[in-house]
Amino acid sequence: MGGLKKIYQTLCAHYGDLDWWPADTPFEVMVGAVLTQNTAWTNVEKAFQGFDGHLSPERILNLPMEELQRIIRPAGFYKQKSQYLKAVTKWFMRYDCDINAIKNRPLPDIRSELLQVRGIGNETADSILLYAFDFPTFVVDAYTMRLFERFPVDAGKTYMEVKSFCETELPRDKEVYGHFHALIVHNGKEHCKKKMDCAGCPLKTSCKKKLFEGAG
Ligand code: SF4
Repeated sequence: MGGLKKIYQTLCAHYGDLDWWPADTPFEVMVGAVLTQNTAWTNVEKAFQGFDGHLSPERILNLPMEELQRIIRPAGFYKQKSQYLKAVTKWFMRYDCDINAIKNRPLPDIRSELLQVRGIGNETADSILLYAFDFPTFVVDAYTMRLFERFPVDAGKTYMEVKSFCETELPRDKEVYGHFHALIVHNGKEHCKKKMDCAGCPLKTSCKKKLFEGAG
């Protein structure tokens, strides 16, 4: 069995199903994906609370920039993020906020279109496409890179190399991609942190970093 599948199965067996990306609508996923750039999810939650339950594309577009900045301030980088939110909302409005119209587009086309939107890089685009619109596109983040470096998984160095490695190794399935990313993030927060805490890590029996350094 390939290293990647083994990691997936081990994490699955240990953590089970994770009720992840806490958002009620695809638009909330989009907003969360922008707000979580360079910050912890707890700060995103505080920013969400500032909308007082009224989060809609119309509201984001109509809010004066200063007011939007005040609401999302807890998520940090609020001046940039307010502009990014307006830009991604405009993109969504181009489809009349019709989820199915977006889902019916070919993945490479919609992905490159999203990457043209201000503030949307690879990770944010893939998070939106996977978690809001159910496209089978693998999300790579800092937790993924750190785990692969330590375990190690020879998946490549750049975002796109690692993404295509994972997509080749795993079944092309949005459920698998979404769950695996959630598991990697979860384990990255629990154990494979900057300062690794290997003692209870489910991967420790096969992880070379742990074996060679005797960490944890
Ligand atoms: S055993 Fe340690 S280094 Fe390896 S994945 Fe777990 S926490 Fe990370």
